[in-house]
Amino acid sequence: MVFACQRNSFLKEFESTVESCKENSIVTVFNGKKIKLNGYDVILQDTIIFPEGGGQPCDFGFINDIRVENVRRVGDKAVHFLDKPVKEGQSVLLKIDWDRRFDHMQQHSGQHLISAVIDRDFGYSTTSWWLGQDISHIELDIPNLKEEEILNIENVANEFIRNSTPVTVAECDTNDPILKEVRSRGLPDDHTGKVRVVTIVGLEDDMCCGTHVNNLSQLQMVKLVKAEKGKKGKVNLEFLVGGRVIKQLNTMYQREQYLTNLLKNSPSVHADLVEKLQKSLKVSNKSLQSVLKDLASYEAKALINTVPKPKYFCSYRQDADSDFMNIFIKEVGDEDILLLLTVGEDKGPGQMILHGKADAVSHLGPQICDLLEGKGVAKGNRFQAKVKNLTRRDNATKLIEEYFE
Ligand SMILES: [Zn+2]
Repeated sequence: MVFACQRNSFLKEFESTVESCKENSIVTVFNGKKIKLNGYDVILQDTIIFPEGGGQPCDFGFINDIRVENVRRVGDKAVHFLDKPVKEGQSVLLKIDWDRRFDHMQQHSGQHLISAVIDRDFGYSTTSWWLGQDISHIELDIPNLKEEEILNIENVANEFIRNSTPVTVAECDTNDPILKEVRSRGLPDDHTGKVRVVTIVGLEDDMCCGTHVNNLSQLQMVKLVKAEKGKKGKVNLEFLVGGRVIKQLNTMYQREQYLTNLLKNSPSVHADLVEKLQKSLKVSNKSLQSVLKDLASYEAKALINTVPKPKYFCSYRQDADSDFMNIFIKEVGDEDILLLLTVGEDKGPGQMILHGKADAVSHLGPQICDLLEGKGVAKGNRFQAKVKNLTRRDNATKLIEEYFE
């Protein structure tokens, strides 16, 4: 069956009659999690709410103001999923989420245009395509695509748009000899009825069930973003069409304005400024590391020279790292002083090392580690762990005090 939305992709409202309404549940993805929805499968005499097909995701919309969460194609029927029932035989008003549909039409017709230009001018064939939420891609049967080829394809595709090239749709019988001439990736196994051939006049004929624009001027423009290595020996060409080009441009301008405010200079020098900042940060980090090493040696020496020799010593530093702790332990070089060293965020995650005599380390290490919500094991005279929370490090000191009492 050919649905009303395929005969006229620009219908936004439509009246139809309910053929059947049956209770059902579907599994859908919401906020990245799979959830089960209970509701009703509704089949109508005809529909403008497109079920997914030809790489195009399904439409959303309303049937008598009841939201259509999903439409799927089963054989030649479109099955609408609703959270409330409608009566069989009832006449209903359909409305579609036009913003979503028109975006899908722009991306899908844009894909036909780009694939056809690539095939005609370079002979590379499209093996599949993906209409993504933000960006879409075409998979090409070649290992890479050169920068000048991408520019060339983009220019030619946009010329077809500037020339307001018409797009037509013909419905053919499955045995029509014309179908041997058109581009096709085959029909679904459960296909019945007429076959649709979508033609970009003067460029290509493509067997497709999707909803398309009727003139390429409705695409506004095509932007080819980049080509990336795909599956074995293939390349994925990312693209944006129409409204998505403007949306992306707006996002990029806002980001650029934010950077201009942060860097206090014009966009033309942003890259240079960030490079300079990165270099100077590297130098600062090196200096900080060297100062921390000196400090570790200095503090270790002060500890060694303390009279009488202390039984234990606890130290915490926010900016230091494991290098600082290791240098400190090496410089002290005395297992008789039990060392508890912690580094990291004051009331957040960090690292700990307990160093000293093996019996003290194996006794106190796991207890202190639990206090600081970490995981680690004692190895001889050392217990080292990454910890989640350094807030209770004073309680750890108390544990050590009690141990030596
Ligand atoms: Zn298509």
